[in-house]
Amino acid sequence: QWIYLNGQYVKKEEAVVSVYDHGFLYGDGVFEGIRMYDGNVFRLKEHVDRLYDSAKSIMLNIPQSKEELSDVIVETLRRNELRDAYIRVVVSRGVGNLGLDPFTCSKPQIIVIAEQLALFPKSLYDTGIEIVTVASRRNRADVLSPKVKSLNYLNNILVKIEANLAGVSEALMLNDQGYVAEGSADNIFIVKGNVIKTPPGYVGALEGITRNAIIDMAQLLGFEMREEVFTRHDVYTADEVFLTGTAAEVIAVVKVDGREIGDGKPGSYTKQLLESFRKTVTEEGRK
Ligand code: PLP
Repeated sequence: QWIYLNGQYVKKEEAVVSVYDHGFLYGDGVFEGIRMYDGNVFRLKEHVDRLYDSAKSIMLNIPQSKEELSDVIVETLRRNELRDAYIRVVVSRGVGNLGLDPFTCSKPQIIVIAEQLALFPKSLYDTGIEIVTVASRRNRADVLSPKVKSLNYLNNILVKIEANLAGVSEALMLNDQGYVAEGSADNIFIVKGNVIKTPPGYVGALEGITRNAIIDMAQLLGFEMREEVFTRHDVYTADEVFLTGTAAEVIAVVKVDGREIGDGKPGSYTKQLLESFRKTVTEEGRK
């Protein structure tokens, strides 16, 4: 396996970074998770744009142009002879001294890892998953914007721990006011009647690229799609619930905090959107 590390392609075993890297010391950096489906990189431009926006927001200057980094991503996939893959792009502040000051770091470290990944077993896309609400809250939008996909994922890790302790694989995070925000690494949608809803970004959700793709697909299919604030009550009483994310794709949720959603099976809107998503990912993108 070949890893891109600061301008070179190195073997997995040789892909190591300094203990003085501020990404390691402080979680100071940004990242992206991207998918390749059947030789197409899904929405590469959107992911690269979000990476540069995240970096700009934390005043991290990525030395390469977006085009250069996009070429590196495609080349990493090519060298690893992958056609279906998960790609992780990491840009850390770089090597500095032990102090917090990011200006001691001379240059960012850029890493691209590509490998095969399946987050959930295939059967779960047919049956749906169970989730719980956790005590960990999404950080407030006025502290560090949820739009920044930073290397500080401790909050999300605590969510994952709570989910695991409850015996489920994913969980729901509320924001500081108790409104539904998102999962540990995916956005949430609910369906009630003929209306599909997902929380707006300001509630404290990452503006997921899969989320935005699903919003577009819902509108193309002629469904009524709203970005709206909602509570756990709305989730419990929804006809359908599903999660979206680069790793999770589109997955039905059939139980939330012990309450069965709808008839306990993936619903028709979820199935149609999953089908539309599967079709789109293999048809569009950059080879
Ligand atoms: N929310 C969080 C916190 C995430 O880390 C992710 C994963 O990237 C998502 C949502 C889903 O976003 P996307 O569809 O861009 O992968």
